[in-house]
Formats: sequence, C-alpha cells, structure tokens
Amino acid sequence: MAKVSVIGLGNMGLPMALSLRRGGHDVTGFDLSRVRMEEASSENLRTVGSVKEASLEADFIVLSLPQARNVAAAVSEAGLKNLGGKRRVVIDTSTSEVETSRRIARELDDAGHGFLDAPVSGGTPAAAAGTLTMMIGGKKSDLELARPVLDALGKNIQYVGPSGAGNVAKLVNNLLVAAHMITTSEALKLSIAAGVPAEAILPVLNAATGRSAVSELHVPKWILSETFNSGFTFGLMRKDVRLALELAKAVSSKLPLSEHVAALWRESEDRFEDSVDFTRFAALH
Ligand code: NAD
Repeated sequence: MAKVSVIGLGNMGLPMALSLRRGGHDVTGFDLSRVRMEEASSENLRTVGSVKEASLEADFIVLSLPQARNVAAAVSEAGLKNLGGKRRVVIDTSTSEVETSRRIARELDDAGHGFLDAPVSGGTPAAAAGTLTMMIGGKKSDLELARPVLDALGKNIQYVGPSGAGNVAKLVNNLLVAAHMITTSEALKLSIAAGVPAEAILPVLNAATGRSAVSELHVPKWILSETFNSGFTFGLMRKDVRLALELAKAVSSKLPLSEHVAALWRESEDRFEDSVDFTRFAALH
C-alpha cells in the first residue's frame, strides 16, 4: 500500500483522507487551518506541520484545496521540482483551472513527477464512503500508477483525456448543476402554485424525463427536508460557475442561457454568504 499525503483537510479532504486510510494506505495530512488540523487529530489521522513535510516521504500527494492559486502554492511548497528519485504523482481533486493544471503538469513532468487533474463529484457523503466519481486529466501511465489510491477514493474513475480534461469535465458538470438548481426550483414552485405539492410531483419527475441529480438527490435530501446541509457552499458554486464562464470566454463559446444562470448565482452574493449551503438557493418557502 502507498504512502499518501493529503493537503487540505476540509469538508472533502478529511473524509477522503479517512477513506484512504480505510483502504489500507499510510496517510499523513496537513491543513493551514488549526481547526481543521484538530478535527483531523480527533480522527487519529497523523498530521505534520507543513506541505513540505507531508510531501517528502509520500508516493502520492492528494490535494483538496479551494482554488487554483492554492493548488499552485501547495505544489510549489511541496518542492517536487527539486526532489529526485522515484516518480511521485500529485492527484489534484480540487475544482481547479485548466491552464493551471496544464502548466503544473508540464513543470512536474520535466522534473520526473506526475500530475493528474482529478476533480470529484458526489460531495462529502461520497468522499466519506470512498465512492466519489472522479474525472481524470493527465498521462494514462500516471493514472495507472495512481490507481490503488484512486480506487480507495472513488467508485467511478473516468479518464477524460490529457492534462486539463478533468477540469473541463468538472466545470461543464457543475454548470449543469448550477442551472438544474434554478430550473428545478422554478418548476416545483410552478407546480405548487398550480395546486400540486412538491412531494406529489417529485416522484413523477424522477420517473419521467425532467429528472436530474438535483431532483433525485438534492431536493428530497436537503431541500424538502429543509436541512440545507449538503456540504457544498455558495462560495464554491459561485466559483465553479465563474470558472465555467471564464472557460467559455477563453474558447469563444457563446452560452446565452448559462450566462443568465451565472448572473443569478453572482447576484446571490447579496443574500447568501460564501459559507451558506448552496441548496438554500432552491428553498421553496
Ligand atoms: P474547504 O474549504 O472545506 O476545504 C479546503 C481546505 O483547504 C481548508 O480547510 C483550507 O484551510 C485548506 N487550505 C487552503 N490552502 C491550503 C494550503 N496551501 N495548504 C494546506 N491547506 C490549505 O473546501 P471543500 O468543500 O473541502 O472543497 C475542496 C475542493 O473540492 C474545492 O476545490 C471544491 O470546489 C471541491 N469540491 C467540493 C465538493 C463539496 O461538496 N464540498 C464537491 C466536489 C468538489
């Protein structure tokens, strides 16, 4: 089994670290936040004091960080460019940016190490269960090296293409989720106003063609129950929508409806702070 360090022990990173340990790997974690480090210690996860320390002995470095700039900072702090010896593979599960992934992958490859953009879907429950869907960009040979680690994290590991392809898949996926959250909420509001309660129409939608992950999972689990604790925040969703629209601009793709969806998520900043759960956007009352 492999030596794995997990950098970023937040909502996703800590349950992923625990899934890796359950899968038999030798896991060490690090987070900049003292609170997160204490949470990790209370799960008896071994922690160390810096990214560099966590990376020195690791065969694989799993990143679960908020933004592309955090990914670039962590990779640079890990010091892989000056570290010879065996090929180490960085597995970046953050929702990050295509160009950042391509640049880091090139630089690490020159130094004899691998980088996979490996964003994930399924949220904190799948991170805890080791059943994430993972979309991988990078060299196929690095994917095969990393396979035992990926197998402990996910149950659906999809190779999408060369470096950056995983990021493209994730941004396209989350642009759809951002739209489905709004369209599903509007559809349910229409149904309620027309005299059919959400509880009555939802099983119909989920057996018919209007369904999505939002109607099958988010609405029953976190919206109708009014628990609003999916573990995915407004801050993260606004980031994903912004990145998807920036990608569209960079590749000259015109997306009129998505631009409207993005505007609605941007404007949500006035009502919902970054830390609020994103399912509140579809609250029916
Ligand atoms: P989070 O904010 O809970 O965790 C991120 C952690 O990274 C924080 O604890 C922060 O202190 C730490 N951090 C930041 N910079 C660091 C550095 N240089 N070194 C060490 N630690 C550092 O976020 P999250 O919800 O766990 O999401 C992590 C990533 O996964 C994001 O890119 C997000 O878009 C993606 N993601 C999240 C979900 C979800 O449901 N939460 C689902 C899919 C993908």
